[in-house]
Amino acid sequence: MSDRRPSPFKTLFDNDVASLIQAADDVYQIRFKNRAANAYLVRGSKRTIMIDVGLSTNYPHLVACLGHIGVTPEMIDMVVLSHEHLDHIGAAYHFHGQAYIAAHRLAANKIMLRDDFSMLRKMFNEPNVPIDIDLWLEEGNLIDLGNFRLNVMYTPGHTSACITLFDQDKGLLFASDTLMPGGVMGGVFGSGSIADYIQSLERLKGLNAKILLSGHGRLSDTPLDDVRIALQRSHALLEDTAQLFDALDARSNFEPIMQSVRDLNKLDD
Ligand SMILES: [Zn+2]
Ligand SMILES: [Zn+2]
Repeated sequence: MSDRRPSPFKTLFDNDVASLIQAADDVYQIRFKNRAANAYLVRGSKRTIMIDVGLSTNYPHLVACLGHIGVTPEMIDMVVLSHEHLDHIGAAYHFHGQAYIAAHRLAANKIMLRDDFSMLRKMFNEPNVPIDIDLWLEEGNLIDLGNFRLNVMYTPGHTSACITLFDQDKGLLFASDTLMPGGVMGGVFGSGSIADYIQSLERLKGLNAKILLSGHGRLSDTPLDDVRIALQRSHALLEDTAQLFDALDARSNFEPIMQSVRDLNKLDD
């Protein structure tokens, strides 16, 4: 567990806004130094994709990073969005008309309906620009890049709409906010659930992952340690939640919710 050993991953470019790190052959992490999530480029023999793209304002820096490995935006065939949070997908509209944009169908629905609350638009101060999803993904879809085959796994918990991409032959695990290095978890947001989160982590634990490529933080070459720690944390969170629930006076806490349902269904005449 010592984090003191040197990183096995090579930084190819670094300035005060972003850095470009090589995760494996033809796989790169673009790491922004503001609140934007990590973006990934996978350059396949047949197709090139990005997984998440960061905030809208980061787009010029994303393009600059890609330039260091000879990739231009026109060379990207598809942008896969891991879930609906705008720190991951804000820049996606820049790819309209030139790359297919894909997301899990539950994320696609929220994004197409512009569900700002679910997308955390105010929190990330993003412009009110539509993002069009061309491909609605499901568990079991496969994205074939030629020499990479990315399996789409439905891994809800952080939100209802999270996917993880896994290349079984290469052991690459693109886990976004479901699993981060050191077992850091992305938290449980409105549509998410801690119980779903635990089940998703259990699925990740069963994979022969070699490299963890997360939505935030560094790359990790110890994904199985990371997932074990995250599982411990998630069980602790489940227990804390149960205790908190016991400690609350259930009736008084549910009353505002019930009142809002009654208000919602009131006929105005
Ligand atoms: Zn998120
Ligand atoms: Zn995130």
